[in-house]
Amino acid sequence: MEDRNNVLRNYSSCSICPRQCHVDRSKGEKGFCGETDRIRIACACLHFGEEPVLSGEKGSGIIFFSGCTMKCWFCQNYQISSKGFGTRVTVEELVTIISVLKKKGAYNINLVTGTHFIPGIIQAIKRTRENGHAIPFLWNSSGYEEKESLELLAPYIDIWVPDIKTLQPALSHTLFGLRDYPDKVKDALLFMQKQGDIDIKEGIMKSGMIVRHLVLPGEVSSTKQVLLWYKQNLSSHTLLSLMFQYIPFTYNGYLTGNLCRYVSETEYEEILGYLDELGIEDGFIQEPVHEDTWMPDFTKENPFPFDFAVPVWHYSKGFIQ
Ligand code: SF4
Repeated sequence: MEDRNNVLRNYSSCSICPRQCHVDRSKGEKGFCGETDRIRIACACLHFGEEPVLSGEKGSGIIFFSGCTMKCWFCQNYQISSKGFGTRVTVEELVTIISVLKKKGAYNINLVTGTHFIPGIIQAIKRTRENGHAIPFLWNSSGYEEKESLELLAPYIDIWVPDIKTLQPALSHTLFGLRDYPDKVKDALLFMQKQGDIDIKEGIMKSGMIVRHLVLPGEVSSTKQVLLWYKQNLSSHTLLSLMFQYIPFTYNGYLTGNLCRYVSETEYEEILGYLDELGIEDGFIQEPVHEDTWMPDFTKENPFPFDFAVPVWHYSKGFIQ
């Protein structure tokens, strides 16, 4: 196990995520995620659009990492996940960004899509704690994770916020080119759930797990399968966040079938009915939004609508006063 951990920690023969590219990122090579061993981030801000137990009144201290191990073609963060926006930061610089977010009142440090930088992120969290800064760290990921990497990471994470995109291998292959996503995400979520119980104090989450699922137009059966599995395996220990914010948009030039439209009112009602049938009550449901004005633009200092976020750091200029 120790040898395997060393390989994971130093990015050589990279097997951090299930893509298993086995490139030597410590020598500058890149695999599917498109990143070497140098951490790159696009921006950091206080974010008010996360679930209420994460954002509260003062905001979640969100950090967006560049690159991605999935690169969904309808990704709303495609500028950073697939187009490489962002700049390199050292571990010390990342620690400074974390401490500024904390100073500005963040309830947690919300690490978005950091799977491919797990070893560097662990170093940053360790240093933050050594510096005496106590703040919950939140793992906000696609759920496409390798168990050994999660085992390295688990001692440093307090709140888990994974996606569960689909449990249908054929749909997963169509959407992400991945047939193993369903098996990997199930293993990852079961592992994460065992790391700690939900602890919410004065309306703010300190530990535990929120499972996010984005409903896709025309894929009600996929959502029902996800909800049934969630009910049978996780619902007594976690919160569900059901999202209807799909935007018919792609960055790579083609969009076909139902994915060219928003989720319909009929689909929304059918899924709410199924939630009732299953008796899932704990969590959050987003109202359907049939517009794209809130879609982030990471070329801007504040990539979000102004009431969604207060920018703290941006790749184009560093700290924002
Ligand atoms: S982290 Fe990147 S290089 Fe490593 S296995 Fe995953 S996609 Fe490949």
